[in-house]
Amino acid sequence: MPTFRILSFVLALLAAASAWGASAVGEHKLRIVASNYPLAYFAERLAGPWATVTLPAPADVDPAYWRPDAKAVGAMQKADLILLNGADYEKWLAHVALPRLKLVDTSAGFRDRFIRIESAVVHSHGPAGQHSHEGTAFTTWLDFDQAAQQAEAVAKALIAKRPELKTAVLDGLKTLHADLAGLDSEVKRITAAKPGLPLMASHPVYQYLARRYALNLKSVHWEPGEMPPEKEWTGLDKTLARHPAKTMLWEARPAAAVADDLSARGIASAVFDPCANRPESGDFLAVMRQNVENLKTSFQRR
Ligand SMILES: [Zn+2]
Repeated sequence: MPTFRILSFVLALLAAASAWGASAVGEHKLRIVASNYPLAYFAERLAGPWATVTLPAPADVDPAYWRPDAKAVGAMQKADLILLNGADYEKWLAHVALPRLKLVDTSAGFRDRFIRIESAVVHSHGPAGQHSHEGTAFTTWLDFDQAAQQAEAVAKALIAKRPELKTAVLDGLKTLHADLAGLDSEVKRITAAKPGLPLMASHPVYQYLARRYALNLKSVHWEPGEMPPEKEWTGLDKTLARHPAKTMLWEARPAAAVADDLSARGIASAVFDPCANRPESGDFLAVMRQNVENLKTSFQRR
């Protein structure tokens, strides 16, 4: 190749490189909407400075029981990516018109492993009204291996949208995966020390946690802020007769009166917060590490 052709080739390469640089800087930040906090957290870790991540569900609402209003739908239509939990989490999805190409179903890769809930009890979550948990269990991210797969789906979508960010996104995925693997191995280590230890859960949201870590878990349908009616306590006593649990897992700290009545039955309350919405302090990893600590205490209880 004559020298001038090499030179023009090099110049063309340089021009292309600077064009990439310009587009990475000049292009608007990626607008990412996440349907729950774990996905928002993954996107923040992976896309960091190149994205604006929003979680449209209000802070005091469980995103699983939220429905977008017209304004939220408008924001999603303008977004570059809409991160969905899948596993039937977004009950509103069929009722809104969104560009399919922007939708990222982060749990699609393990949909053959979804847990079906049969004959669920109808109950209410405060002012939101009654509902049942029948259908597909959706707290997929409490199996930290599934969480890692969801994070990977977010990374793939980011890279497809902005190929120039590939290296940075994959670097971010590596450290995120390491953090999730750390949680995964710690829970395995804790639970393996006492296989089959009977546990209670206050709400049926721990199906994937129980499957991944082989927890012997039975659930009632209680809310942290509400005193369960008498028949619930009778039901609990019946369950305890054949399932002598010494710990009840809660999504949030239960009311003192409820914790006291449990304590009188020899049951300690332990918070294992699914962290579906943004926490008041700390982040997903901090909340999960505290959950794991709380679980560890439960497994050390005699
Ligand atoms: Zn419920």
